[in-house]
Amino acid sequence: MGRLCHMEYRDLPRVDDLAGQLSAEGLVIDLATTVAREAIETARRLLDEGKSPVDPLSHARSVAAELLALKPIRVINATGVLLHTNLGRATLAAESNDLSATVATHPATVEMDITTGNRGKRAAYARRLLQSLTGAEDALVVNNNAAALLLALAAVAGTGKAVVSRGEEIEIGGSFRLPELMAASGASLLEVGTTNRTRLSDYEAVIGDAAAILKVHPSNYRLEGFAESVSYEALATLARRSDVPLIADVGSGLLDANVPWMPGSPPQWLAEEPGVRQTLDDGADLVLFSGDKLLGGPQAGIAVGRADLIQRMATHPLARALRIDGSTHAALASTLEMYASGRGTSIPFWAMVSLSYDELELRHQQLLDRLEGKGEVVRGESVPGAGSVPGETIPSPNLHLAGSADTLWEKLLAASPPILARRREGTLVIDLRTVDPADDALIAETLSASTSGVRGGVLPPQLTPVAE
Ligand SMILES: *Cc1c(COP(=O)(O)O)cnc(C)c1O
Repeated sequence: MGRLCHMEYRDLPRVDDLAGQLSAEGLVIDLATTVAREAIETARRLLDEGKSPVDPLSHARSVAAELLALKPIRVINATGVLLHTNLGRATLAAESNDLSATVATHPATVEMDITTGNRGKRAAYARRLLQSLTGAEDALVVNNNAAALLLALAAVAGTGKAVVSRGEEIEIGGSFRLPELMAASGASLLEVGTTNRTRLSDYEAVIGDAAAILKVHPSNYRLEGFAESVSYEALATLARRSDVPLIADVGSGLLDANVPWMPGSPPQWLAEEPGVRQTLDDGADLVLFSGDKLLGGPQAGIAVGRADLIQRMATHPLARALRIDGSTHAALASTLEMYASGRGTSIPFWAMVSLSYDELELRHQQLLDRLEGKGEVVRGESVPGAGSVPGETIPSPNLHLAGSADTLWEKLLAASPPILARRREGTLVIDLRTVDPADDALIAETLSASTSGVRGGVLPPQLTPVAE
């Protein structure tokens, strides 16, 4: 680096040369040229000021590396968080992705009735599948559940008042606050109750002023202790009596609380999660949920319920701004078909849920063997994630590695594709429930290169995972 101190104007590289070098390292040429120009200009300005600049090449390289890191790439999720919002929540089954890719890369029946060749309705097939799977009169699919909520309030409550419990005014990930989103719909919120307790009488007291009742499932947190809220059933009775629609945002999109697509009785960790079908049966007029949480499909927002309300949503001007694209419809329809044909456990989310403890333990043990025992397989937990089923976990074996968690973490991130693990109290934790078995070997190779030199030793006592 000694030569940097003596840099002079004539040492500055040409923009094209520097850009060519960055482009050879993978940055697209337009970005490479911009980065090169900025780095050279910075160096020139410093020379003008009589200072000694950083070498433009190393400056430009670090900016280029930052840009390349923004590019979406696949990663290996060894965190045990099944629906990791930062990694795109649910992943699609290969067959769903294939259909989606075909629709994206070819002319396809996105809005066409192919029996007549005339214009048809967007997402009409998913709509029919949703009717059949949930028992709803009708359904509508939009871009995401935040969009479904916005549209439902705009179309059903209009500029009127939507009653909502103060215990349900939640903030979802990325600091999006539902009350602010609801206000953006044009409806105003009529808040009732307190943070921890809301009674039926609180709703009854204001129902005369209300254009809708909204109940939001507090997906990402749980009230415990001195808490009270009103059931869907009781709210539905009040709604019917007062001729005010009940909108239920159930969030995660568990189609049926009985989980009929899984063998045996529903898993314990789903006990508190409202099913879409059951919420409709309880009398909700509209039920809203995400496509990419427990449903296991693509990013989408789904509304099911009364045909007249769905119709109002579908014909509202906002519907056009919130509509889904053809390839997302294809992915969603394909995912719904898997439920409708008894293959729900082949949907990647449910496939991960269905992996048995014993078969996972074997995989963790095999991984540990390849690391010459530099760690320990312990009883741990996977996390459903995406702010669904708060506090609930799925019993899973975890591999706790010996050695510095931070060092291992960095080595894993530098792998290709990068491997994401969990750091807990100085220990690196690997959970293979969220890993394709075909990727176990890469994890083993990366770790064995990183743990050579580390002595196997006593690990901290059993750790529990952090929720996402
Ligand atoms: C996740 C969630 C949302 C937001 O859904 P997106 O599909 O991410 O837009 C809204 N409401 C509830 C209750 C949720 O759990």
